Amino acid sequence: MGLRQDMPTEAIESWLREDREDRLQALWRSADAVRREHVGDAVHLRGLIEISNVCVRSCAYCGLRAPNRDIDRYRMSEAEIMDCVAKAVEFGYGTVVMQAGEDPGIECEWLSRIISRIKSETPLAVTLSLGERPMDDLRAWREAGADRYLLRFETSDRALYDAIHPPLPGRVSDRIVMLREIKALGYEAGSGVLIGLPGQTYRSLAEDIALFRELDLDMIGVGPYIPHPDTPLGQQVACQSPVSWSVPPTEQMAYKVVALARIVRPDANIPSTTALATINQVEGRELGLQRGANVVMPNLTPPEYRMRYEIYPGKACVGETAEQCRTCLRGRIESIGRTIGLGQGGRAKMAV
Ligand code: SAH
Repeated sequence: MGLRQDMPTEAIESWLREDREDRLQALWRSADAVRREHVGDAVHLRGLIEISNVCVRSCAYCGLRAPNRDIDRYRMSEAEIMDCVAKAVEFGYGTVVMQAGEDPGIECEWLSRIISRIKSETPLAVTLSLGERPMDDLRAWREAGADRYLLRFETSDRALYDAIHPPLPGRVSDRIVMLREIKALGYEAGSGVLIGLPGQTYRSLAEDIALFRELDLDMIGVGPYIPHPDTPLGQQVACQSPVSWSVPPTEQMAYKVVALARIVRPDANIPSTTALATINQVEGRELGLQRGANVVMPNLTPPEYRMRYEIYPGKACVGETAEQCRTCLRGRIESIGRTIGLGQGGRAKMAV
């Protein structure tokens, strides 16, 4: 089995099914070498601001889904967001990521003004992760200065996607089409998938990884699916036994996808995600960084809101302040001999 960037989908699938320890060690080493060669040892820090947990969608996997009445909804004010932005500058982060549920209450002009302020008052890159907004909004935000947009396609299996990600009435939801449009607007485009969704086949996960390459993604964020008890999928999982053709939502499967993503997209920015840190609180972050990842996303959301942004239960770092997150992540990065990235850390043009 080769480990080339152009490896066929069948080879990707074989790696996803691989469980021999020596072969997996070879996969980790190979991904780590590709990471070092193409994006270097710097770990870029993206300060995450979860600006609203209001959501109009009904995704079967996500705790923020509109029908979930058990969460206390919030939307941050401009002043609160700018306080988080100031912390990002103070902490030396290169980017802020504004993420939210799909919240039409985040008005286009309101956010355009905030983006313009960040771009004129700070040296930060601005990343948005706000779901399936109208293209006119995305165009306006790009014109206001936003640099990057994150939109996971979650799975490329259309039947599974439709089952877990219903569109709003009268609309269609095609995130793969949207990603091409996002790139055409001049954004750096990020996407990714959930690993171990009930009913996800090895073949479809291999196709997801091949699609990372075909879409030439600038950023790839993946993590294990973590069941949320107040969601239809979470309730279904509780009474299901695992089947051999369905990908398990395990830590090891997540590392395999991180490593293979690195191999097929050598210069992409790949975070070691919070979901990984959640299923292995001891060293999930570090292992992600040693198996292909080169980015982490310290949380800047004020603690009182952070607890309410519960896309899945038990999320790592929920009880921490922005300062604690910064210190903890710095320590983890330095403990594995890596350095903190300087500057915005956009699509890799390796500084030599
Ligand atoms: N509303 C935005 C942001 C959603 S949160 C959007 O839809 O793009 C960001 C990501 O969290 C999602 O894309 C999804 O992949 C992930 N996520 C949601 N629920 C999850 C769960 N139960 N387990 C693991 N990851 C989850």
